[in-house]
Amino acid sequence: MDRDSNEPLNATPAPHRADIAIVGGGAAGLATAIFCARLDSTQSIVILDGARKLGAKILVSGGGRCNVTNRRVSVKDFFGGNPNVIKRVLSALPVAKTIAFFESIGVTMYEEEGNGKLFPETNKAATVLDALVGEARRLNINMACSHRVTNINADGHGFAITTDAGSVTARKLVLATGGQSLPKTGSDGFGFELARALGHTLVTRTPALDPLILAGDFHRQLSGISHPATISIKTAGAKPLRAQGELLWTHFGMSGPVALDASRHWHRAQVEGIDAQTSISFLPAYEQAKLETWFLDFAHEHPKVQLVTAMARLLPNRIAHAILDVIGLDSAIQMAQLPKGVRRKVVSALLDWPIEVVGGRGYKFAEATAGGVSLADVDPSTLQSRKCPNLYFVGEILDVDGRIGGFNFQWAWSSACVAGTALAK
Ligand SMILES: Cc1cc2nc3c(=O)[nH]c(=O)nc-3n(C[C@H](O)[C@H](O)[C@H](O)COP(=O)(O)OP(=O)(O)OC[C@H]3O[C@@H](n4cnc5c(N)ncnc54)[C@H](O)[C@@H]3O)c2cc1C
Repeated sequence: MDRDSNEPLNATPAPHRADIAIVGGGAAGLATAIFCARLDSTQSIVILDGARKLGAKILVSGGGRCNVTNRRVSVKDFFGGNPNVIKRVLSALPVAKTIAFFESIGVTMYEEEGNGKLFPETNKAATVLDALVGEARRLNINMACSHRVTNINADGHGFAITTDAGSVTARKLVLATGGQSLPKTGSDGFGFELARALGHTLVTRTPALDPLILAGDFHRQLSGISHPATISIKTAGAKPLRAQGELLWTHFGMSGPVALDASRHWHRAQVEGIDAQTSISFLPAYEQAKLETWFLDFAHEHPKVQLVTAMARLLPNRIAHAILDVIGLDSAIQMAQLPKGVRRKVVSALLDWPIEVVGGRGYKFAEATAGGVSLADVDPSTLQSRKCPNLYFVGEILDVDGRIGGFNFQWAWSSACVAGTALAK
């Protein structure tokens, strides 16, 4: 379906009453409505969204291509609350069923080589959004844009929902207001206040998947260079947390998938007041012994080659120069002249390069929010609140965040399946 991207997708006025009201029509809200309505056409459903158009975040996702999910999804790809709850929710809609769901609404996907990421074959995020909205229309779901919810009253029998375009009452309510990353899309964090006002515990929020700002100048000279890397975050008494992938050096510090993945661990350590030491391995495919052997073999075969040239066989030339500059070694030294101690120093610099992170770029640049409504406050088999009967939570508002690779959307689809199915019963 071709769509003029400036045209409001749906500006239906909201009804005054509905069986089910879903606050937020992003990935999780739309999918919840669809899962529910497919199983049960007797209940009326309204989606109330504050934005003028639905799905802004879907449209910008994956660089405009929308990384819908990943071929391999496991609980290890997620962080936040109780892993058993996360696992249980994921198992309600595993990847194969997610792929089948999207095929059923006309979205076929392809897998990107090497990382398991699944994208629509059209390479357009609009394909995903249009398919979801089209299916919601087919199922007679009322989608009311420009209805920002400002207050909710629960009286034990139902909900009185105040929006800036009138009031709605509903027997059941779903909060699908997302996190607070990229607030201009409409997910500005107000949903957390609605959840709090209805009696829920909020786990402290931080940005997740945002670029990292570094102290010093090392990064400035490397701006624009990218290469595979591992980032380790070490805290006293705990196993180091590691992220692996492509690193992009920038004028402010580090970006690229590996930096984004590492950011949530760095932010969480700050929130918990834990001192975190961060370091980079420029060569994720090597550990110490293997890299030492590589240098010895290389020196044997190319005794007259300069150290910097040898290093440039393994990583970008400018990085090799920058590292040698900082550790104060002569880049022109020949491999045959390299004493053991110096070789070890180079190996250690390449595999465990300390960096000082001074901050993240924040919610404006983050792709997700860590923290949110505590998983202890929901029944994992339905995602119904334990604090407020007939209220459900789906998507990023919950205390779950995934790493880069389609995992945050998978959480949206799986949690939507759990709540949508429960709402239909
Ligand atoms: C730049 C960027 C790229 C991303 N790329 C990917 C990717 O490729 N793959 C992936 O898995 N994840 C990606 N993500 C993360 C993913 O987009 C989110 O995890 C996902 O959209 C969360 O879905 P949700 O439905 O819970 O929330 P959202 O998609 O944020 O939707 C929430 C909706 O609630 C509405 N709302 C909020 N408050 C109110 C209110 N008070 N009243 C009424 N409506 C309200 C908002 O307008 C919005 O429409 C990306 C995120 C960003 C920012």
